[in-house]
Amino acid sequence: MTSSASRNLSRLPLREELRGQEPYGAPQLAVKAMLNVNETTYDVPEDVVDAIAKEVRAAAAVLNRYPDREFSTLRDKLADYLNRDLASEGEPAELTAEHIWAANGSNEIMQHILQAFAGPGRSVLAFPPTYSMYPLYARGTYSEYTPGTRAADFIQTPDDVAAQIREHRPNVVILCSPNNPTGTALTLETVEAAYAAGEDSQTMVVVDEAYGEFRQTGTGSALALLPGRERLIVSRTMSKAFALAGGRLGYLAAAPEVTDAMRLVRLPYHLSAVTQATAVAALDHSSTLMANVERIKAQRDRIVTALEQMGLRPAPSDANFVFFGGLTDEKAAWQHLLDEGILIRDVGIPGHLRVTAGTEEETTEFLASLQRFTSSAT
Ligand code: PMP
Repeated sequence: MTSSASRNLSRLPLREELRGQEPYGAPQLAVKAMLNVNETTYDVPEDVVDAIAKEVRAAAAVLNRYPDREFSTLRDKLADYLNRDLASEGEPAELTAEHIWAANGSNEIMQHILQAFAGPGRSVLAFPPTYSMYPLYARGTYSEYTPGTRAADFIQTPDDVAAQIREHRPNVVILCSPNNPTGTALTLETVEAAYAAGEDSQTMVVVDEAYGEFRQTGTGSALALLPGRERLIVSRTMSKAFALAGGRLGYLAAAPEVTDAMRLVRLPYHLSAVTQATAVAALDHSSTLMANVERIKAQRDRIVTALEQMGLRPAPSDANFVFFGGLTDEKAAWQHLLDEGILIRDVGIPGHLRVTAGTEEETTEFLASLQRFTSSAT
């Protein structure tokens, strides 16, 4: 088979803006510790595997039919799940299926949002360093992408975000909280300020909470801000906390009018019956799956403390990963870890790397390997 690297795509009449571009893709290497794409590294618990298999088997019997286009059972369960999250913070829990939309990963959720609210002649604002797919969602939907700015410590303040929204007047602004790759979360005041600043330009404000379940106690979810804010969208995923990256299920909560807008752009039957069955079974076992979230948060906090002790500079993290600086040669550190079977992420920021918080054993291996590197490098 010819490898894609040796083929010449320029022979095809490709869209101008796709010429010379590389596809998105973090390395997928079979090493002992894969800590580079912020998955949950625990295996799916046995009882959840059984429950998924049972639901999928039932779905298989009727695969001759198209799936439920409205994925009603799934939307009900997602609303219940988010209401439990809201209630745990003492917030009113009033989400219903009407407020929920789902798609194949939050990647597709974002694509639906931009298809509906951005597009040709319209613009999307996000704040790098942030999730590297945002410019690609914009490109794929023919939208203009505007990279905003962050302060030197990557933190975003309400005033700064509001000023950039007023300056650029984007059709859609994407706030990532907790932010990938830095791990830092936004205060709800910042989200409120972004929403208020977008009043004049009728900017849709998307808060990407892919890592929402890992937030520190006291960090609120933007879900609490939804009532009365019809331009606000909170995006979530089952890829991280639910240990379901392979199931491909992302979702959003917003005003019912937003979900109506999503129906205009989705492809018919975009959520397969198998996907719906998988996600429903996982939601029925959310408490089993969430038990690992607490373990992961403990390892995340352990990594921050240990890196500080090594003289490195970890950013405070509300996510299931830690972003850290203070390396003189991050490429050498990354390679040293890989040589020892530990794959982490070089996000292209000099002196910095990002590591996913895995199991206790994986964390121990990562810290020991990095310690060997830093002691030999100094
Ligand atoms: N948003 C953020 C911030 C992410 O880091 C990721 C995955 N790395 C996604 C969205 C997409 O996740 P998925 O499509 O698996 O839901």
